[in-house]
Amino acid sequence: MQTIERDVVIIGAGPSGLTAARRLTQAGKTVAVLEARDRVGGRTWSNIIDGQFFEIGGQWVSPDQTALLALLEELGKDTFSRYREGKSVYISPKGERTVYEGDTFPVSEHTAAEMDRMIEILDGLAAEIGPHEPWAHAKARELDTISFHHWLRQQSDDEEACNNIGLFVAGGMLTKPAFAFSALQAVLMAASAGSFSNLVDESFILDKRVVGGMQSVSQQMAAELGDDVVFLGNPVRFLHWDDNGAGKAAPVTAIADHITVKAQHAIMAVPPNLYSRVSFVPALPRQQMIVHQHISMGLVIKVHATYATPFWREDGLSGTAFGAGHLVQEVYDNTNHEDERGTLVGFITDEAAEAMWALGEEERKAAVLGAVAEFLGPKALEPEVFYLSDFGAEEWTRGAYATSYDLGGLARWGAIQHDPVGPIFWSSSDLAAEGYQHVDGAVRMGEATAKRILES
Ligand code: FAD
Repeated sequence: MQTIERDVVIIGAGPSGLTAARRLTQAGKTVAVLEARDRVGGRTWSNIIDGQFFEIGGQWVSPDQTALLALLEELGKDTFSRYREGKSVYISPKGERTVYEGDTFPVSEHTAAEMDRMIEILDGLAAEIGPHEPWAHAKARELDTISFHHWLRQQSDDEEACNNIGLFVAGGMLTKPAFAFSALQAVLMAASAGSFSNLVDESFILDKRVVGGMQSVSQQMAAELGDDVVFLGNPVRFLHWDDNGAGKAAPVTAIADHITVKAQHAIMAVPPNLYSRVSFVPALPRQQMIVHQHISMGLVIKVHATYATPFWREDGLSGTAFGAGHLVQEVYDNTNHEDERGTLVGFITDEAAEAMWALGEEERKAAVLGAVAEFLGPKALEPEVFYLSDFGAEEWTRGAYATSYDLGGLARWGAIQHDPVGPIFWSSSDLAAEGYQHVDGAVRMGEATAKRILES
């Protein structure tokens, strides 16, 4: 077992850990990044499946994600826009399919008015409460002790409007049923993206992709850091720390499978649901141990299907499709940069995702493609390449896209989620304000944590 000494040891080589490592080394600190997997990038991950390039994890960038956009520029990486010409498709709760133009779902006048009214209320709350300290607001407890599902039904008796608004946060972002998280958590999600209107606007929220894939951001940062900084295949099992360590040679010792790192500071750059995979010696303070049990991952299946051509474009369709009660709730054109073949991406969340994993492979494929075909026609049934992202089965993630609190957790414990414990700091997109749950939030947290350590 090799033992090395560094100023800072970082656990996790996702975008947050690698950004922190980049900023710390730029400031002259020595760093080791210990990564459990045999690759970097964490929840951003590209792979070639049956000859086709798929972004299995995080991929989209929106205009408000300025920290990520600045990092892309610094790394010299290009972006490209999502294809969005043509009409969209909506499937109503009764299963009626409508082809429509513009940003508004083709619903009744009453439902449309109710949706607009709720968007306005949520925009107001997001502006008033903001993403930084939602737990500190006077309405925090009230909004955090009611599920988003029930809060929506307090606002409106229009079930279709409630389900459609719920979709933007529940299926669309937190990937938990709307009864499993609070209205305050939904407001944080909206505030972190600038407004609720931004979440509703797929042209805004799913704006661009990185040429070469989002994982290449982490790969480039890791390559620039070098082999004696990033150590793959090294899950950290123990973190020994000393609360009175200031001035000591190395108050932190991280023990991974093939390397031990002694350091002044540690950054846990892993999602909070994985903190308990590390044995802290001594154990973390009581409150920290309790908080981490109330933050859990959502669950979503990202569906990838590549066709000989983007056939939907010939039918005047953009590939964008929505159905709040549909098996595949959202579908988009996800054709790769300069690719002649056409690719669709779709999302199946929470309870529907569980039901899909309970099926056999062929039955699952037929159900998923059948649901896509209901939006875009029978040609959708015959992809050349088909793949389902399964982060729920990934030991070092355990769900997707990210984590959120259970009911009441954000108001009770949000205020301490950023507090360091002795020399240990916490950094991941799951703890971000702006860019919460997104790569942008991971970058922001990495930069903020590096700054805190440099100033400490
Ligand atoms: P992670 O990316 O999870 O990195 C954490 C790293 O820590 C991992 O590499 C893990 O292996 C490692 N690790 C864990 N435990 C240990 C241990 N004990 N020892 C050592 N290493 C450990 N975001 C967007 O902005 N746009 C999108 O379009 C988007 N879509 C998504 C789609 C999917 C399917 C998923 C899963 C995520 C998506 N996201 C998206 C979210 C985005 O990918 C994450 O917010 C981001 O990757 C979080 O970065 P992070 O560094 O905080 O954590």
